[in-house]
Amino acid sequence: MNIGIIGLGLIGGSLGLDFRAQGYTVLGVSRQQSTCDIAVQKGVVDESSTSLKLLATADLIFICTPIHLIVPTLEKLTPYLKKQAIVTDVGSVKGAIVDNCSQLWPNFVGSHPMAGKTEQGINAAQLGLFVDAPYLITPLESTPKCAVKILTEIVEKLGCQIYYSSPEEHDRAVAWISHLPVMISTSLIQACAEEQDPNIRQLAENLASSGFRDTSRVGAGNPELGLMMAKYNRQALLISLTNYRQNLDQIIDHIAGEKWQELEEILVSSHQYRANFLKSK
Ligand code: NAP
Repeated sequence: MNIGIIGLGLIGGSLGLDFRAQGYTVLGVSRQQSTCDIAVQKGVVDESSTSLKLLATADLIFICTPIHLIVPTLEKLTPYLKKQAIVTDVGSVKGAIVDNCSQLWPNFVGSHPMAGKTEQGINAAQLGLFVDAPYLITPLESTPKCAVKILTEIVEKLGCQIYYSSPEEHDRAVAWISHLPVMISTSLIQACAEEQDPNIRQLAENLASSGFRDTSRVGAGNPELGLMMAKYNRQALLISLTNYRQNLDQIIDHIAGEKWQELEEILVSSHQYRANFLKSK
């Protein structure tokens, strides 16, 4: 089987490394010739090109471009595709993508590998990035079952845990555990940067350790990706942000009013509930 990858960055490059390690032939297309050259040098792909024509022999294609380019990329790709080719994407939002792409190519299956890191681009690509990570597949009623089956069999080999949902359920769920944390973490960094006393700000920067590293990590990720999450999952993100603000206001009220019992109840409940999000990892 020939696997095609469009967008040889962190996710596309990491998929290429894994699929080549599995013995698949990987054909990669990216925007810049320099990225295509690095991809071949690093063993991410067997062949690379800036032209989508390279994918005329691909059986399964992963679109790994930034979110806003996924639908336009598929539009440009369809003239070159084999009749039976399966196309998927790895975008961090699904509602804005899956319907449109399925209309362009009936053998389209939306998906989202839930793994990443702060760095971006081809040089951040990493073998084994998806091991033990959730991989969500978001078929529609109209999506051919055999395309879902083939995609499942291939991505299972990455060592992922496979889940299925509708695109809308995906967007609501990731608003809570992925897009909301990016915005909270961003506002944490911004708030710390606004300390007016330069001596205190410098001392805080010197003292920041594992706690700050954990809570600020996702706020320091790819800015373009954060923007796309907000633009393309706006509705669900606003709901989760509003809910978060209410929780923060409640904590402020408890501290201002010295309601220590109430604050302790929240802290105890969070201490216990966090495990539900991390139990299988
Ligand atoms: P990235 O590292 O910036 O990679 C995106 C790559 O797309 C760039 O390296 C760029 O290649 C290429 N590209 C841009 N425009 C293109 C075009 N018109 N045609 C072909 N290639 C083009 O970003 P990423 O983090 O891998 O994210 C890619 C996708 O994965 C996004 O849809 C994102 O939502 C999804 N995703 C990201 C994460 C994460 O944590 N980062 C996790 C899961 C899913 P050049 O170097 O050639 O310009």
